[in-house]
Amino acid sequence: MTPLNGKVAIVTGTSAPQGIGRAIALRLAAEGASLVVADIGGSVALHDQVYDRAVLQAQLVADIEQAGGRARAMQVDVTQQSDIERCVADTIGKFGGLDILVNNAGSLAGSDEFLSTTPEQWEASFRVNLLGPMMFCQAVIPPMRERGGGRIINIGSTGSLGAEAGFGAYTTMKHGMVGLSKTLAAEFGADGILCNTVCPGYIMTDMHAAANKRLAAQWGVSIEQAQQRRYAGVALRNAGRPQDVAAAVAYLAGPNADYVTGINLPVTGGVPCGI
Ligand code: NAP
Repeated sequence: MTPLNGKVAIVTGTSAPQGIGRAIALRLAAEGASLVVADIGGSVALHDQVYDRAVLQAQLVADIEQAGGRARAMQVDVTQQSDIERCVADTIGKFGGLDILVNNAGSLAGSDEFLSTTPEQWEASFRVNLLGPMMFCQAVIPPMRERGGGRIINIGSTGSLGAEAGFGAYTTMKHGMVGLSKTLAAEFGADGILCNTVCPGYIMTDMHAAANKRLAAQWGVSIEQAQQRRYAGVALRNAGRPQDVAAAVAYLAGPNADYVTGINLPVTGGVPCGI
């Protein structure tokens, strides 16, 4: 039997074709969970091409179903409480309950050098990286409590544990994610709800590629040189794969983590987070 057989999971931020959310959804489905994959909708420009996120989401559902899993795609902007409430109600209506939430949607938008960051950019980063996860947790906890427990896995970052210059808003919100997880672990442990943070390091996704591109321009070097400079601080000397993060999420969602709550699990290849 697969470890998540009979479990129902929501994963946010799943449309990016190279993204961590997609890898998490595929992994949880492969372990037996029924999935709701939630992303913001509309179109997105990636690699000089414009994609309809609904098409990307449909492809993910098809990939899960082809592998024998169950999934449903929903258009959910995590900054909108009404979208979140509709998503949770539809999930329970369709699959009969809810056991796992993965708050994966996130954005580097508005994270820049500190002195050039506007209050509007700071607030936008707060809404997607911290307020959205908080609202999602508030929506899932009552039904999880009624069901006798659940798992919440928040996707933080090395920016939850330390800081790299030039990412002030993102780093601040990702630090907040750890506070959110620990609060929920403390407040809802007695209800059987476990809450942990997975902190990815440099993971080769479009978000990471965009950060490398921005730093290369800022430092006046090539993208390869910027990558080398960043990865020099990684013990394993390279970037990780979305699947590496998905494996950590599957562990925290599954029976091997029955007695694990309130932790930060770094998936970084060994990054010193000294600052
Ligand atoms: P990604 O490729 O940009 O994927 C993030 C997904 O979230 C995208 O599909 C994005 O849609 C979606 N999203 C953004 N705003 C949303 C909203 N308001 N509502 C719903 N969905 C929304 O990023 P990733 O690299 O896979 O990152 C996934 C998570 O890991 C994020 O929380 C990120 O902070 C974290 N992380 C990543 C790295 C890394 O190196 N890649 C390192 C540390 C932490 P769009 O198409 O609009 O972007």
